[in-house]
Amino acid sequence: MTTELYLLASLIALLVGLAVGKAWERYKLRDGRWIDRRRLRETPHYMLGLNFLVDNQVDQAIDELTQATSTDTDALEIQMILGNLYREKGQVGRAINVHQALLQRPDLTKLEHAYVLLCLGLDFRHGGFVDRALEAFQEVLQLDPRNRYALVNLQKLHEDQHQWAEALQVREQIAKIDAGRRPDDQQILGFLRNQIGSAQARDGGVIAAARTFSDAIDVDARTVPAYLNLGDVREQQGNIAAAVEAWERLIDAVPEHAYLAFERLERAYRTMGAPKRFIDLCNRLIEQSPQDWRTRLALSRHLSSAGEQRPAFDLLLDALSHHPHGLAIHQEVWAVLSGLGFEPALVKRYIALARDAVFYLDPHVCRHCRYRSTELLWQCPQCHEWNTFVEERIAPAKDTAVADALVNES
Ligand SMILES: [Zn+2]
Repeated sequence: MTTELYLLASLIALLVGLAVGKAWERYKLRDGRWIDRRRLRETPHYMLGLNFLVDNQVDQAIDELTQATSTDTDALEIQMILGNLYREKGQVGRAINVHQALLQRPDLTKLEHAYVLLCLGLDFRHGGFVDRALEAFQEVLQLDPRNRYALVNLQKLHEDQHQWAEALQVREQIAKIDAGRRPDDQQILGFLRNQIGSAQARDGGVIAAARTFSDAIDVDARTVPAYLNLGDVREQQGNIAAAVEAWERLIDAVPEHAYLAFERLERAYRTMGAPKRFIDLCNRLIEQSPQDWRTRLALSRHLSSAGEQRPAFDLLLDALSHHPHGLAIHQEVWAVLSGLGFEPALVKRYIALARDAVFYLDPHVCRHCRYRSTELLWQCPQCHEWNTFVEERIAPAKDTAVADALVNES
């Protein structure tokens, strides 16, 4: 929805720009259309329609723009917008009819032709007509090879069908057009390579997969899943040391996502007969970022499974003070407390700290469309953007005495 709206807004901006800014050139190019356009603006419907559009009142915008076109049936851009509005309302068939009718006009310029086809491609995509959408976007590119909208839509269509190699090829064209001006290009190229590697690994091509995951990391060192997957295929090949190397590299490159490698590293260190390395790693990470509750939780679990309940409990309370709403921490506290026979002094400490905690279940939010998820996702299921999830944090728990003092002050 939001991507579509954004695209719609961009299209409208572009079309309004075309209508106003280029009017003079058009007048020179094609005698007579100037009069039409002026007549168009003399009716209130055109302006009203645009205002409703800006206000997101789609039905009213359609009414006004339809009336505006009744005085000037030639107004291409208004018909295009009307078609887009029908699509936005879910009336895809109607949108397709409007845009296909525009394609029949004999006097379309190359640019106009490309943009009508682009609208039609969006209609097809919206209606789930994948092949026809692909065809329309490819036609746009024949007319206008650097059309970024068409390329982005092609990429997304390929992604929807898990055609990762094709999606990557299209994204490389986009990156060429952007020429380094947009930092998310590298990120998307990294994630798409990671998808290709995952498909190779699933088909048993472990060596090729390992190479692709390494490529993904070279393209963008922040492609987190590529490190995890690279380690996994190396582990499959029986090379634990190389697997550990990949997972440790993740921790150096993207320390805020270190926790994703914890289970793997803990297991691998144990296999290598060096379980102490996990404790050292956790302690180093806690020192590096004192707010890191996840590392405390992981270390606590590690210690409690080794029978060291007391230090495990202390770590959990530390973790809670940084992240009072973490359900996983609370659950672990109860497990450890039970291991310690619910010692009353410890239970009291916990209750004092947990008193103001509010539980919430879906802390991961897409920066792009606000989609919420209980787990960290690399591609948003709603807007299909890559690596857009951030963790929503609520203010840390305060010592109750301090909190009461603050309330009394205000
Ligand atoms: Zn999203």
